[in-house]
Amino acid sequence: MPRFAYVDGRYVPHAKACVHIEDRGFQFADAVYEVIAIRGGVLMDERGHIDRLVRSLNELKIALPMSIAALQLVMRELVRRNRVHDAALYMQITRGQAPRDFRFGPGLVPTLVMTVRRADFSHAKQLADGLSVMAVRDIRWARPDIKTVMLLPSSLAKMHAIEQGADDAWLVDADGYVTEGSSNNAWIVTGDGEIVTRPADGRILKGVTRNALQHVAKLFQLRIVERPFTIAEAQSAREAFTTSASAFVLPVVSIDGKPVGDGKPGPVARDLRAQYLAYSNGAHGAPIGWTPS
Ligand code: PMP
Repeated sequence: MPRFAYVDGRYVPHAKACVHIEDRGFQFADAVYEVIAIRGGVLMDERGHIDRLVRSLNELKIALPMSIAALQLVMRELVRRNRVHDAALYMQITRGQAPRDFRFGPGLVPTLVMTVRRADFSHAKQLADGLSVMAVRDIRWARPDIKTVMLLPSSLAKMHAIEQGADDAWLVDADGYVTEGSSNNAWIVTGDGEIVTRPADGRILKGVTRNALQHVAKLFQLRIVERPFTIAEAQSAREAFTTSASAFVLPVVSIDGKPVGDGKPGPVARDLRAQYLAYSNGAHGAPIGWTPS
């Protein structure tokens, strides 16, 4: 089955898809992106991802290359042409193509690239074993709240963690507080059952899955607290977990080699994952099919 990508108005075979070498995305990482999970053919939390895409573009004063309605049509057409049911849809929008110069004019035409990649959302191994994470200093730029393609620090952090035998990195700021995972938001469950995640204080990406989980947790009258936490607090927490659009909710069972709780995936992460998936099955993200206990 050939794979198709969408590049600037055309659906092209994935292997032949390309952008120009003078694209500012390539030369300056002058671009934003989004990742949307497609589960059972449905775009999960589509509205939340589009809202964040528009915010990222606005923060960098990059124009939206087409109307939101047109963007939604292209997403659906790409899913249709690739005949995927479970997949991740990636969308990059750059400021456009121009001779290399730190300055840029107002008239650039943004480049839009969309791809889809099949995914196995059962996450069987990660759910059975849980993730091990390692603390790595957060050396990203000062605007991680914008979802830019400037992912080198996160990529290096993850590689460093993997080289040390862990699965992922949890980034730690200069004050010793966890910001987030290399490509996910970080959470802990305290001994008295509070579900803690860092506030969207400009030092993290405000995850769409994070928002959805907060919504789900409130429906179940769970206590969500937004405050920073350290690696030491996370190591002595009852549970830890991560959230992201493509991994949903995954348990973290060890941090810097220390087991979290009993070192096994915990019930809060498991239940939140199940309820998040139930929520996502609702029309346009409206929660259906389950009632607060
Ligand atoms: N933080 C970072 C740094 C990320 O890359 C991601 C994944 N895009 C997230 C958090 C989670 O965001 P979302 O739930 O919207 O995927």
